[in-house]
Amino acid sequence: MNYCTQCGAKVVLRIPEGDSHPRHVCPQCGEIHYLNPKLVIGCIAEWEDRILLCRRAIEPGYGLWTLPAGFMENGESTAQAAMRETGEEACARVAIEQLFALVSIPHINQVHLFYRARLLNADFGAGEESLETMLFDEHQIPWDKVAFRSSIFCLEAYFMDRRSGAFGFHESTLPPP
Ligand SMILES: [Zn+2]
Repeated sequence: MNYCTQCGAKVVLRIPEGDSHPRHVCPQCGEIHYLNPKLVIGCIAEWEDRILLCRRAIEPGYGLWTLPAGFMENGESTAQAAMRETGEEACARVAIEQLFALVSIPHINQVHLFYRARLLNADFGAGEESLETMLFDEHQIPWDKVAFRSSIFCLEAYFMDRRSGAFGFHESTLPPP
């Protein structure tokens, strides 16, 4: 960040009084600009034991497969974000079942949340940000063509739980690659 979004003055990086982290502080209007992690929220959407994946039409990960997910918007709940993203990327309607995985990714300042969800019908397709969407059995998952480590973590945990007969909650922190 270079300029204050309140008054346009050039910001400086310093630790405000009583704080512990360096912040972008505006020397003109005094505004302290806090930067915090972003939430990325998505679904493991099931239909008859198969999982919905989207092949990305945008970077990062163009051409690779991923769980439908995206940045949470202001004014929505986490479950609403998961349903909205699944609608936007896979034109699919889902019922949320259970919060399934939380993945912290400190080096890119993101937290990824995934819900287990059920497709309401088999009516889905590629949204604006997808090249194609498809249902996969476990043995069909293109593991070497999955875009994000959080998706891989989530899918592995999902299939592990499914084999064990009970779904739990899974948490992980991803180190830098
Ligand atoms: Zn300012």
